[in-house]
Amino acid sequence: MFSPVTKMSGNQRNLLLGSLTIIAVSIASACYYAEKSGGEAGTNSATAQAGQRAQSKSVAAPAEASVIRTATSTAAPANVAPPQPVEPGTIVDAHNKKIMPGAVVLAGDQLFFLTPTSLWVADHASKQLQAGGPITVAQFAPPAVFGGVPVQELCNLTYSPKRNSVVVLDKSGDLYEFLADSHRWRLFRSNLPFLPGQPDPEFIDLAVLDDKILLLDPERNQIWKATGPARTMSGFFPNVFPWRARKGDASLGDSAAIACDGTVYVIKRYGPVTVYGDGLGKSAPQALLRFSRPDGMRPSRLITAAGTPLFVVERENNRVLAVDKKTGRVSTFQFAASADLRGLVPHSDGFWLLDNGVLCYRALAKADKSKHAVATRHQDSRLDGMIMPIAGMRLPRHAGVFPGARRLYRYGVHEGLDLFYDAGAKTKVQMGTPARAADSGKVIRADAKFKDMNSAVFNKVMADCLREHKTSAPNEDLLRGCQVWIDHGNHLVTRYAHLDKINPAVKTGAAANAGEIIGFVGVSGTGQNLPGRARYPHLHFEIWLDGHYLGWGLTPTETMQVYEDIFGNY
Ligand SMILES: [Zn+2]
Repeated sequence: MFSPVTKMSGNQRNLLLGSLTIIAVSIASACYYAEKSGGEAGTNSATAQAGQRAQSKSVAAPAEASVIRTATSTAAPANVAPPQPVEPGTIVDAHNKKIMPGAVVLAGDQLFFLTPTSLWVADHASKQLQAGGPITVAQFAPPAVFGGVPVQELCNLTYSPKRNSVVVLDKSGDLYEFLADSHRWRLFRSNLPFLPGQPDPEFIDLAVLDDKILLLDPERNQIWKATGPARTMSGFFPNVFPWRARKGDASLGDSAAIACDGTVYVIKRYGPVTVYGDGLGKSAPQALLRFSRPDGMRPSRLITAAGTPLFVVERENNRVLAVDKKTGRVSTFQFAASADLRGLVPHSDGFWLLDNGVLCYRALAKADKSKHAVATRHQDSRLDGMIMPIAGMRLPRHAGVFPGARRLYRYGVHEGLDLFYDAGAKTKVQMGTPARAADSGKVIRADAKFKDMNSAVFNKVMADCLREHKTSAPNEDLLRGCQVWIDHGNHLVTRYAHLDKINPAVKTGAAANAGEIIGFVGVSGTGQNLPGRARYPHLHFEIWLDGHYLGWGLTPTETMQVYEDIFGNY
C-alpha cells in the first residue's frame, strides 16, 4: 500500500551501501573504543553536558587507535594541556581540532556534518572510514547573509539526490542549499508569513521526497512540501489545527521527527510511528507502523533510506532502535550513560552514529540482547535541583513555546520557555502571578525602574526586525521587557522576562534563594501594553549555559527533552 514511489535515492545509495559494507567491520573497533572511554572530555557547549564531561576525562586510547600529537616533548609546560589521543571516527578539522556536529548525512562518497554555524565536508568518506582513524573534514561555512537574509542557528540537514544538494534548516525557519558538486551555497527558501492570520508554522525536522523538502510542523499539524522560494507551500493534508483534529485527520501535534524513503514516516514523542503515502495523490493515506515498541521510548530522531531499517535515535535513553519496516522486528542498541547520541547514517547492515563528536558503527547483527534496558543520559549536574519558576506549573507540551522555536513575526529564534496559562493543567498564569528564582544565586540584573516601550519605539523595533530579517541583540533585549537575571555560578544564568514588575526586595548584587519571589508576571516588552493589543501574560524564562541559551545546537525535539529532564512531566 505504501510502496515507495520515488526510488531516486535508492539505486545511488544501494551502490554506496554495498561498497561501504566492508568498512562497517573495520570501524567496529572505533565504536568499541568510543563506548569504553565514554566519549571525550567536553568541548561541546551546545549540549547540556559540558560540566558533566569536563569532570570525566577520557581514558587512554587503545593501542590500535590513531594518535595525533601536536608536540613531541613528553614534558609539556604546566599551562599547556598535553596532547590528547584521538579515537577512531573522531571528526577533526584541517588543524586536527575536534568538531562536535549534531547532524550528518552521507551523499555519494561524501559525509556532510552540521554544527550550529557551519557545514563540514568529509571527502573520500569510504576511504576515511576504512582507515579507522579520525575523519578529517573541510569547513564550508555559509555566507553571513543571502540577499538580506542572515543565516541564523543551523539546526538540521538532509540530502536531496535529485537536486544533488544538502538542504539545511535554520531555527528561524530559513532553508539553505549547499550544492554537492560545486560547493556553492544558495538560499533555498526564506521564511515568510505565508499564512496570514494563522499561527506560525514551526519546522522541527526535515526530509526529502523526490525534489521536495518535507518540513514537519507540529504547530500547524502539517507536513509542508517546499520546492524553492515560493511564498506558499502545499501541505500533505487539509489545514486542520492540532486542537481541531478529529478521528481520521492527520495528527502531528505531538510528533517528534520525520523520515522518508519514498514513503513518509513520522514518529510521535512517545514512540508510535505513522506511515503516510507519498502525499502526491489527492489524499494521503495514513496507518500505524506495526512494531513491538520497547518501554519508555523517547525518540529524538528518525532516519531511514531505501533498503535500510527505520532507525530511531533516543538521545535521552542512550538507545538506538532499528525497526524492520516490513516485519516490525526491533533490534536494540544501548550506549553508555555518558553518550550524546545525535545524527545517524543508515546502512542495510547497521548504522553510523554521531556520539560526542565521534562517528561510530554498530552492526545490526550485534544488537543488544535486552530490549528494554535503558541507561538514561547524564544531565549536566549544574541543572540538578532547578525548580519551575512558577509554582505548580507543568512543562508545556508543544515545541512553539520552547527555546529554539522560530519567531516569525520578528524573524528570530526564541531563546526561552514561555509559561502561559495552561487550561489542561489548570495552572494560573495571569497578570501578577509570582515568578520565583529557579535556583539560588546572585541577582545580576533587576529592572527596578523599568519603563516599557511606547508605540513609536515598539514600531521601530518591529521595522528593524523586518528590514534586518532577524532580531538584533539590543532589540531582543527590548522585547524581553522588564527582567531579572540570576547568576548561579559555573556559567549558569537564568533570566525572567516580560515581568509586570519586580519584587522591590530584589536588588542587583543581592543573593536570591531558590523559590524566592523575584517578580510578577506581565506583558512588558511584548507590545501588549499598547492600546488595542491582545494581552497574553506569561513568563518568558531563559536558561543560559556557557554563553548560550539551553537548547542552542540541539534540535527542537532534543531541546524539549532536555527541559523534560530538568522539570519532569514527561
Ligand atoms: Zn518567550
